[in-house]
Amino acid sequence: MKIYLDGKFVDEADAKVSVFDHGVLYGDGVFEGIRLYDGNIFRLEEHLERLEYSAKAILLTLPLTRAEMSEATAETCRQNGLRDAYIRLVVTRGVGDLGLSPWSCSKPTVFIIASKIALYPQEHYDKGLAIVTVPTRRINPSALPPTIKSLNYLNNILAKIEARQFGALEAIMLNDQGYVAECTADNIFVVHKGVLATPSATQGALKGITRGAVFDIAAELGVPVRETNLTRYDVWCADECFLTGTGAEVIPVVKLDGRDIGDGRPGDVTRRVAASFKRRVRIEGTKI
Ligand code: PMP
Repeated sequence: MKIYLDGKFVDEADAKVSVFDHGVLYGDGVFEGIRLYDGNIFRLEEHLERLEYSAKAILLTLPLTRAEMSEATAETCRQNGLRDAYIRLVVTRGVGDLGLSPWSCSKPTVFIIASKIALYPQEHYDKGLAIVTVPTRRINPSALPPTIKSLNYLNNILAKIEARQFGALEAIMLNDQGYVAECTADNIFVVHKGVLATPSATQGALKGITRGAVFDIAAELGVPVRETNLTRYDVWCADECFLTGTGAEVIPVVKLDGRDIGDGRPGDVTRRVAASFKRRVRIEGTKI
């Protein structure tokens, strides 16, 4: 496998980052997870824009322009002869002193990995996921806005561990006011009386690219969408629920905290949204 590392393509074994890199020492950096479908990078511009916003929010100057970043991403896929892949684009603060001050880092480190991703097992796409609400709350936006896709994922990782301890593959994270924020690596939608609802970014959700695609799909399908506060009760009593994410795509949820959602089977709106998403990813996108 060839990895893009600071302007060069290197073998996997040589793709090494310094132990003094502040991405390693402090999680000081930003990243994107992107998909390549049949030779098309899905919503690449939106991912690169989000990366730019994440970098801006942490006062990190990206060393590459949008066009250079786009080309480096496409070239990483080409170098590996890939037509379908999961792409991980990472920009760290770079190598610096042991202290946390970012001013000691003279230049950011950029690396891009294009590889395969293990989605949830197919049975969960067919039958739906059973998820739980975990005790770990989504980090308060005034401490670190969850809209920044930063290398600080410990908050989500703790929630993921708790999900597993409860025997679930994904978990709802509430914000510190007790409203649903998102899942550990996915956004969440519910369908209630024909209306799609999802927490707004101000509730502690990442502005997911897949979430954005679902807004477009809903408009096409004529299903109204609302960004609104959601409680666990709203999810328990929803007719349908699904999660969205670059890795997960659109996956039905049929149980939360031991309660069946709707009739306990993937719903009609969920199926239509998932089918439309599958069609779009093959035709939309930037050709590599
Ligand atoms: N929330 C979190 C915390 C995430 O890490 C992700 C990305 N896996 C998402 C939501 C979904 O965002 P996207 O659709 O852009 O992948």
